[in-house]
Amino acid sequence: MFKKILIANRGEIALRIQRACREMGIKAVVVYSEADREAKYVKLADEAVCIGPAPSAQSYLNMPAIISTAEVTDAEAIHPGYGFLSENADFAERVEKSGFVFIGPTPDAIRTMGDKVAAKQAMIKAGVPCVPGSEGALPEDPKEIIKTARAIGYPVIIKAAGGGGGRGMRVVHTEAALIHAVQTTRSEAGAAFGNPAVYMEKFLENPRHVEIQVLADTFKNAVWLGERDCSMQRRHQKIIEEAPAPGIPRRVIERVGERCAAACKKMGYRGAGTFEFLYENGEFFFIEMNTRVQVEHPVTELVTGIDIVQMQIRIAAGEKLPFAQRNIEMRGHALECRINAEDAYKFTPSPGRITMWHPPGGPGVRVDSHAYTNYFVPPNYDSMIGKIIVHGDTRDQALARMRTALSETVIEGIQTNIPLHRELMVDAKFVEGGTSIHYLEGWLGQHKR
Ligand code: ADP
Repeated sequence: MFKKILIANRGEIALRIQRACREMGIKAVVVYSEADREAKYVKLADEAVCIGPAPSAQSYLNMPAIISTAEVTDAEAIHPGYGFLSENADFAERVEKSGFVFIGPTPDAIRTMGDKVAAKQAMIKAGVPCVPGSEGALPEDPKEIIKTARAIGYPVIIKAAGGGGGRGMRVVHTEAALIHAVQTTRSEAGAAFGNPAVYMEKFLENPRHVEIQVLADTFKNAVWLGERDCSMQRRHQKIIEEAPAPGIPRRVIERVGERCAAACKKMGYRGAGTFEFLYENGEFFFIEMNTRVQVEHPVTELVTGIDIVQMQIRIAAGEKLPFAQRNIEMRGHALECRINAEDAYKFTPSPGRITMWHPPGGPGVRVDSHAYTNYFVPPNYDSMIGKIIVHGDTRDQALARMRTALSETVIEGIQTNIPLHRELMVDAKFVEGGTSIHYLEGWLGQHKR
């Protein structure tokens, strides 16, 4: 096992990784920007090194600074967390070329999954169900494009191969609008992602977002750890996640989960990963794979009892998965609310000093956050300041625990989205379960204030 790991991230996930290290007896080196100098997890770390000013480009995205910190601190491995450099194949390659272990998949796997056309082709080959669409990137010939759309049937969605974060997509409802939409998406994709390739998919009108968590070691063992429903989204940003996904027959989920684990074996995938699907009318359709730990990993940890971050570290250190699929049991129900420093209804960011921080507690309640009373939320980064996660024997119990947890939580000095979460936890449709990815936006439209 490693003696020392460098954490190339910030905020709650930097603390989460640090906790995993501490439990395993591994020393944690934290890199930080000038804006995060005062953060408590920075002070808690075994070693902390400032790698640059607040802007991410000069700190958390600064590859030479991160790698040279690993060198001077004698760290053996680098955990990239999520966001920042976590899905940057060039970074993973540079880490490994510099003689460190990258806690994540191979650079090749990251590269393949980062190109959505290549990812989809890999999935089709591995037998994972995909959204019906073009075979690979669209050709130049307009006649061919029209033919493809007719075969798929309208509405279709044009997506950039290099897209991400909900950008580089365009829905087309009629043939008259098709060619212009393809051209516009192509030129935008070229400018934004440096890759003008686009592809076409059937546009699913009212799907849910359901994803499968996997773990794979370097001995060709792979397991899936159940699913998460992340349909409560605004502008493609998830705000509430849960496990299991309400109302989906187990055998349907098992079929897709087994396909994902089999795909990992076939691709020689290593580490933690998430297969994201749209789910509509009883069917799963792959949309993309994330080759890193996800924000919402705790809901899976609570229902499986498996520490995903520790597993990432064990796999990277060359250990075998300590369990087989038949040993994985799902127990109860877990919910996560992402706590953002923002106006609950207008969504304008609300950075600043937290004058009072009183997190919830009690049975089945977990809080993953780096915040505390007197913590200053810097304006430079994502607005998420933590997550409240609850576990119950049933979904109803988990909901009741989340309502209680939210009612106990006091955060003063900045605005947060807690009022929104309190309302959603008593919303009849959400409580019923199974809302689509459009539900939250519709709800917000009706509850304007
Ligand atoms: P990104 O990498 O930008 O997040 P995804 O491929 O994961 O892109 O898609 C992001 C979101 O766009 C999905 O969660 C879904 O809301 C919507 N979307 C993508 N493909 C389709 C599709 N074929 N039909 C309907 N909605 C889609």
